[in-house]
Amino acid sequence: MNLMKLTKLMKLTKLKIKKGDKVKIIRGNYRGKDGVVEKVLPKDGKVVIAGVNIVKKHVKPRGQQNPGGIVEIAKPINISNVIVICPKCQSSTRIGYQVNEKEKHRICKKCGGIIK
Ligand SMILES: [Zn+2]
Repeated sequence: MNLMKLTKLMKLTKLKIKKGDKVKIIRGNYRGKDGVVEKVLPKDGKVVIAGVNIVKKHVKPRGQQNPGGIVEIAKPINISNVIVICPKCQSSTRIGYQVNEKEKHRICKKCGGIIK
């Protein structure tokens, strides 16, 4: 494995947010809102959060399967604008890591609980 690949991999694993995490938005237009991560876009450093940053898009009809009309889609927002809400203590928290021989857990820096 070359160095470029390795740094890229390290960057990817550095992402502390995963699909299904409950997060709070701390910056931008949606500050104070929370939601669940629907998708993580590691390359862009962005996440899609259900119900946040919704834009309406007009879609042209394309056959029977796709009648068209107005669809609402959640646009990705920067990962740096969100913070994870710990499922155990319910507070927005910074994530730490706990590493043992077998695996690496994400832990809540406030209550020390493991975040799956
Ligand atoms: Zn916690």
